[in-house]
Amino acid sequence: MKIEDAICAFCGCLCDDIAVEVTDNQITGVDNACTLGAARFREDLKNRLSEPIIRDGEGWKDISYDEAIRKTTDLLLSASRPLLFGWSSSATETQAAGAHLAELIGGVIDSTTTVCHGPSILAIQEVGHPGCTLGQVKNRAETVIYWGCNPIDAHPRHMSRYSTYPDGYFTKKTLQSRKVIVVDIRKTESSDIADMFIQICPGGDYAVLSALRTIVRGRPEVVPPVVAGVSKEQLLAVAEICKKTRFGALFFGLGVTMSRGKYKNVRNAIEFVDELNRHTKWTITPMRGHGNVYGSNEAFTWISGYPYAIDYSRGIAFYNPGETSAVDILRRRECDMCLIVGSDPGAHFPGFCASYLASIPTVLIDPYPNATTHLATIQIPCAINGIDAEGTTYRMDGVPIQTRKLIDTNYPFDGDIVHEIHRLVAAERRI
Ligand code: SF4
Repeated sequence: MKIEDAICAFCGCLCDDIAVEVTDNQITGVDNACTLGAARFREDLKNRLSEPIIRDGEGWKDISYDEAIRKTTDLLLSASRPLLFGWSSSATETQAAGAHLAELIGGVIDSTTTVCHGPSILAIQEVGHPGCTLGQVKNRAETVIYWGCNPIDAHPRHMSRYSTYPDGYFTKKTLQSRKVIVVDIRKTESSDIADMFIQICPGGDYAVLSALRTIVRGRPEVVPPVVAGVSKEQLLAVAEICKKTRFGALFFGLGVTMSRGKYKNVRNAIEFVDELNRHTKWTITPMRGHGNVYGSNEAFTWISGYPYAIDYSRGIAFYNPGETSAVDILRRRECDMCLIVGSDPGAHFPGFCASYLASIPTVLIDPYPNATTHLATIQIPCAINGIDAEGTTYRMDGVPIQTRKLIDTNYPFDGDIVHEIHRLVAAERRI
């Protein structure tokens, strides 16, 4: 059986044109996906855990799902400051269940946003978001800027599906006519194929954005000859291209959000786009990494009013990134139990956070053994969004897409596991 238009939920591109061949309930062929996506559909499936596991001395032993869920519930009930982290590879239905569980137990819930585009959200809360869909970019953009990101590595089909190569309704022969500018601190595969590469000094994003804003505002005379390693001639050339284009799209990555300046860099980038919008039409979009990290911000906001780093310990939702975000709570050794769903903080968090996770009861709900498994007390394998589970998933531009279930397995949906934990906690507390 060939399933056309399957969804790859690996990265924020959420490619919806994947053709998957299924034979005897096994995925035997994948077309259109990039290497990362194809591996997710085929290779990674071989590495799944078959049963929940629990630490047993130096090793592990298998336990049943009922037992694993019961033990997780007991750990949550006996914790005084539980942290519920991750969620970005899970469907939005699971994320919503997680937010309700956090509210019920008075815990803290945070997603991987905290270590990727959290600063982008803070900037958007301050100055708004002149955004658009990726379809608009494909159909209208004449100039595209990639700032502090390397889409060929991290979002391999972003350029071919949305921004650089495809012809759109209003844009023809884009391969020749569309201008691509890459701004980064070093050469990358993406800068190699750009029409213009602007190499800036590390930590120079804020200064370069300010210089560009100043030029677009009509005061080029106050810009010095070199700004953060970029010559004034280059800055004038970029500003001219941006002003002359009829529709431009700026995409930015962790090079902007996680370098010196953090959310102030993003705020400056948004204000640069605002400045350009006095002359022409420009939009700005964060390159969201995990397949459904955007969905976690949506689901948490519907339920609590806040997009990430939400602390329910006061009985109401409290939000103060830097204080209530997962890394800060772990750094202060504050939480005494951690439930991790659909992410791998063992691979991405600072070392001291990872080692603290290893010292407290940590439960991981994830299909695969990963770096966090080595820190966990219990791991509960679950179905994979877009392979043997389906659910709502948000693309990096905020468009919700329903993933498809391609094969049947006995693995439970992670949302059902979280719902069951919620039911047991509520029953214990007689709610
Ligand atoms: S670009 Fe991202 S969503 Fe598209 S196939 Fe590759 S990994 Fe999957």
